[in-house]
Amino acid sequence: MAYVITPPTIPTVPVRGSDALFPIHRIYCVGRNYAAHAREMGHDPDREPPFFFQKNPDTIVPNGGNFPYPDKSKDVHFEMELVIALSKGGKDIAEADAMDCVYGYALGLDMTRRDLQGVAKKAGRPWEVGKAFENSAPCGEIVPADQVSGLENARIWLDVNGETRQDGNINQLIWNIQETISYLSGLFTLAPGDLIYSGTPAGVGAIVKGDVMKGSVEGIGSLTINVN
Ligand code: MN
Repeated sequence: MAYVITPPTIPTVPVRGSDALFPIHRIYCVGRNYAAHAREMGHDPDREPPFFFQKNPDTIVPNGGNFPYPDKSKDVHFEMELVIALSKGGKDIAEADAMDCVYGYALGLDMTRRDLQGVAKKAGRPWEVGKAFENSAPCGEIVPADQVSGLENARIWLDVNGETRQDGNINQLIWNIQETISYLSGLFTLAPGDLIYSGTPAGVGAIVKGDVMKGSVEGIGSLTINVN
């Protein structure tokens, strides 16, 4: 096959214990999937269920390193999240079959230009400028599911410069992992290579150049990102 331009590189994330890489198809994100975070953003989780948005696959920052402070924003927020990596997809996946689609898990940051997102929300516009900008999706190495246990009750937290800013538990997810995959597969055809950022606990806040973010989920390890 010939191409009229050089085809883009497939974005990838490393896999723990393997030299092979995980290729990324799409990046889905769940909005307001922890009640306390929904409330801190001014919403009532009892009246508004979580929802989905997407980031571009090439916004990934694989396995730690640097997050360049983005243009056009003065209020860039961290959102620490558990990422679900899929090895199987489909449409209308039943909750009972959802875990069969999971390849593994990773630590992710849903970096957000909160000021631009706020303008978009107010105007009833899409969120891409706030959410899907370059380097907005730092993601740690993927840990295969058979190496992870106790995730349903795992602490999830984020330290900035050594101070804990977000501190929650995966058991606080409004849509758990199975429900998230099942709901999402009703709206989109899921595929091998999809990543799902499952939502962030309360405590989101702004970073500045020079900050060091260290995110963790019990049983998965930690992800360190420098803001520069
Ligand atoms: Mn998020």
